[in-house]
Amino acid sequence: MLNNGRARASRLLRARSTLETAMAISKELLEILVCPLCKAPVELKPDGTGLKCQQCKRVYPIRDDIPVMLIDEARIEE
Ligand SMILES: [Zn+2]
Repeated sequence: MLNNGRARASRLLRARSTLETAMAISKELLEILVCPLCKAPVELKPDGTGLKCQQCKRVYPIRDDIPVMLIDEARIEE
């Protein structure tokens, strides 16, 4: 009983890490998102925590897999 439960949990964890983190923001969504300030395309940060505008270097946070495209929420990152 205990062993079965543990094996299932680790399978679930693996599925979460491969699917959910990689697919949190889809390519299609990224292509339509632009910086609200300069209308330039944004790029997903390597660590997946935000979307960076290539023009003004503002980084828009991603909260619960939803990009927050608000100038007030963004911080400038060089
Ligand atoms: Zn911008």
